[in-house]
Amino acid sequence: MKPDSSLQNTLPGAAAKPASVSSQEKLRLVRERYLRNLPECLSRIACYWSSLHEDSINREELRALHGMLHTLAGSAPSFGLTKLGAVARETETLVWDMLEDRSASPHDQWLRTSLALDELQAAFGETEEEERARIRFEESTPLAPVAREKNSKLVFLVEDDVSLLQNLTVQIECFDYHVRSFPGLADVKKAVAREVPAAIIMDLMFPEGGVAGAELVADILREAAQHIPVIFISQRHDFTARLEAVRAGGDAYLTKPLHISRLIEKLDQLTEERQTDPYRILIIDDDPELSQFHALTLQQNGMLTRVVNDPLKVVEHLVEFNPELILMDMYMEGCYGDELAQIIRQMEAYVSIPIVYLSAETRKERQFRAMRIGADDFLTKPIKPDHLISSVTIRAERMRIIRSFMERDSLTGLLNHTKTKEQLDLAVLRARRSGGTFSFAMIDIDDFKSINDTYGHLTGDRVIVILSRLLQQRLRKTDVVGRYGGEEFAVVLMDTSAEQAFRVMDEIRYSFEQLRHESDLGEFAVTFSCGIASFPDFHDPVTLCREADKALYEVKTSGRNRVLVREP
Ligand code: GH3
Ligand code: MG
Ligand code: MG
Repeated sequence: MKPDSSLQNTLPGAAAKPASVSSQEKLRLVRERYLRNLPECLSRIACYWSSLHEDSINREELRALHGMLHTLAGSAPSFGLTKLGAVARETETLVWDMLEDRSASPHDQWLRTSLALDELQAAFGETEEEERARIRFEESTPLAPVAREKNSKLVFLVEDDVSLLQNLTVQIECFDYHVRSFPGLADVKKAVAREVPAAIIMDLMFPEGGVAGAELVADILREAAQHIPVIFISQRHDFTARLEAVRAGGDAYLTKPLHISRLIEKLDQLTEERQTDPYRILIIDDDPELSQFHALTLQQNGMLTRVVNDPLKVVEHLVEFNPELILMDMYMEGCYGDELAQIIRQMEAYVSIPIVYLSAETRKERQFRAMRIGADDFLTKPIKPDHLISSVTIRAERMRIIRSFMERDSLTGLLNHTKTKEQLDLAVLRARRSGGTFSFAMIDIDDFKSINDTYGHLTGDRVIVILSRLLQQRLRKTDVVGRYGGEEFAVVLMDTSAEQAFRVMDEIRYSFEQLRHESDLGEFAVTFSCGIASFPDFHDPVTLCREADKALYEVKTSGRNRVLVREP
């Protein structure tokens, strides 16, 4: 097969009129074909095993057997055959150990492998499980994208398990990516030289070797003019495999069976136009000149700084500026650095903010004492600009990553409940200080329980993801979008009056209502209800939540699918 032949050409019946075949249909065809080939695959495995002799194992054949089990372990769960995949993985590990001569007792190893292979055949026979899996699989196929962009991004997908390759291609293309699929390593490098993709998704193990995928990636990245984001996909869970992937320059490592939402999330993250927001650094130092100097040094490196010369004012600056790292002097008029650090750490929102001391204090025991309060580093003045920049950058960068894990919901990538509430609190404090306005909206999907009941939980999850994407697309970057609960969302619309918020949310409501979601039982539509309360009509976080919730409740009890603003 040519490496860049599109999926349509490889699917039965799809070549003539690709446009007329829905992705749902394509997936069904791919899966049917996979199931048709499965008996042959298992009989080949059985055949290879029976041709092996315990006393003189043919390593070539053992390696081939391992390859087959490896492929099966990766592909079966992706098509919903969880049990078969798990047994295949166990068996694969046993065969691998044989290949590596790891076992103390080769005879035991032989017996265990033999038993595992019996179990594999038994798992294959469990058709009932398979049937349940069929339903799960079909539910897990993605929906059509919300809106197809004209210039969808090019992604290279390299995977030697052809069924999985086809399955993934269809699924990824539902999310606005154009996929060029490669069933082997042979032509990938040439293709990258012709056209640089926005990302590469690469399997790790190929017939060429256990980490052949990583080796090729390392080779490609060495010669590439710019970094190409790489996501490795593999059923290897071991440290060595992960290490090789990192060394090759991989940005992410996902284990099979793959969750399409995780994969898409990673792709979105890695191919996003990289325009990272500048790090926000708060500098607390009672020496105006020196603090200015440090601020300028950091600004020249693209950071946003705020200088506080009066340590007693730090709390208000924290709230307003919302820094990601604090650079702090040790000895100041009115308040010591470690005392201030303690005060900051006692505020819930800043428990984990990195604090870096910058002080002329050179006595180690004093430094350690200060660090015990929970500081992250101790830099001594005078400091070389390079050293300051790298120390701050490393910590700010790592903090952003840690934060995104702590603060974001794993299904949608939206802020979680706690974080959303925290953002609401901050919005209130900011608006009080600036005299501004903003609105708080609560959204709840209508009759979601019946969507789950009718179309399955996974389809329900996809509806949640689609709504979260819609909210992110339509709202401004400065607005806060959170997943408040299961099928509930909350939005803080900055600098937005109740009237404007109504218009925005009602447009989104209308768009969402227009979407058609695909399912096994045909297309269906979903709606949501929304309640809005605005500041300063309601002037504290608790009241804002309560009143938005009341408005939402009113909509729920009067027909749903509507946006309602709570009047003061
Ligand atoms: P209403 O219009 O009154 O909001 O009806 P509803 O059915 O949407 O409301 P209800 O609160 O009774 O049910 C919400 C359902 O959402 C129940 C729960 O099983 C489901 N749910 C919660 N979280 C998730 C999730 O993460 N995924 C899926 N698929 N379902 C979820
Ligand atoms: Mg609910
Ligand atoms: Mg609901």
